[in-house]
Amino acid sequence: MARRLPCISRACSACCRETTMPVTKAEAALLSRRTGMPVETFTWNNKGILTLMNNDTTKACMFLLTDSADKFAEGICSVYDIRPKGCQMYPTVLNEHDSAIIDDGCPYGKEFPTPTEEDSITLLNLEERLLQGE
Ligand code: SF4
Ligand code: SF4
Repeated sequence: MARRLPCISRACSACCRETTMPVTKAEAALLSRRTGMPVETFTWNNKGILTLMNNDTTKACMFLLTDSADKFAEGICSVYDIRPKGCQMYPTVLNEHDSAIIDDGCPYGKEFPTPTEEDSITLLNLEERLLQGE
């Protein structure tokens, strides 16, 4: 979750539910150190890329504080200050031409500023690190 407007004004946590967010090894290690949770308890191996795991009951990211499985229920990221880069960037994602766009999975995507060239570069660098297994 980006946690800018409109995330806050809409009390939204939709992107933290049924997440498929990838994390670098360094991000996973930091999350593990901070939470005391072994990396394998909050990630799974998605074709070689570490990916955040969802809670069986809430269907939300293991780090989302929520007791509801409703996609539009409120929820707070318990690791907000060290959340992965992909979470910070969302709903900005890369399209098939490696340009940054607003993902149509965000229900309030129209309320975000238009992505910039700098966003594209940031996401390309992140993708490269993930593919390199960093
Ligand atoms: S789905 Fe969109 S509005 Fe909702 S928390 Fe995520 S980025 Fe924010
Ligand atoms: S780490 Fe935080 S921001 Fe990222 S998906 Fe999980 S709860 Fe959402």
